[in-house]
Amino acid sequence: MYRILPLLGDAGLGILSIVFVSHWYSVSNMYAFLLLPLAFAPDLDAIVELRRRGKVAASAENPSDHRELLHKPILWMLVTGAWWYFGGFYGAVAFVLVTMHFVHDSVLTGWGVPWLAPFSKVRMKFFASEANQESLARKDWIRTWKPKDLHKAIVAHGNENWIRDLYLRPTTVSIVEYGVFALSLIALLWHLLA
Ligand SMILES: [Zn+2]
Repeated sequence: MYRILPLLGDAGLGILSIVFVSHWYSVSNMYAFLLLPLAFAPDLDAIVELRRRGKVAASAENPSDHRELLHKPILWMLVTGAWWYFGGFYGAVAFVLVTMHFVHDSVLTGWGVPWLAPFSKVRMKFFASEANQESLARKDWIRTWKPKDLHKAIVAHGNENWIRDLYLRPTTVSIVEYGVFALSLIALLWHLLA
């Protein structure tokens, strides 16, 4: 069951996004929360790997990362941006939800996001060392991997048990992600009571 722990970060950011846009638009109904699944939507393709291997991990054992098919930020942002332009509030919620998913995928866990897909497959990640550890060193602020470099890096540094190693003990990842989730519950309570 601990394998669902990485979803807490997306859930937390999703809830914060909805509360934020609701206040921005002064909307107090709860229907916007029906859009929360959009916070996870780009990861839907991971279900294929989950069913095949019982886990989702890029490593020497499985040197491929699922963030290909649906991790195309420009397309998601164009579609939800159009929804925002023509539809207002709910489109704004959708836009912020999907954008925050990709921002979240660009730090801490995983192998970055191909921000320019479908035009480029280069992965981008922020604050990550060559071994894909979080790092604030100037040279690590923006890390990029071309497809063949990504494959090599995954073989060299991918961790088959990343969820156990990062989420079941105090790490930067667990502290930040659980913190965001806890903050989102406080914001949700405040939103419900305000
Ligand atoms: Zn993702």
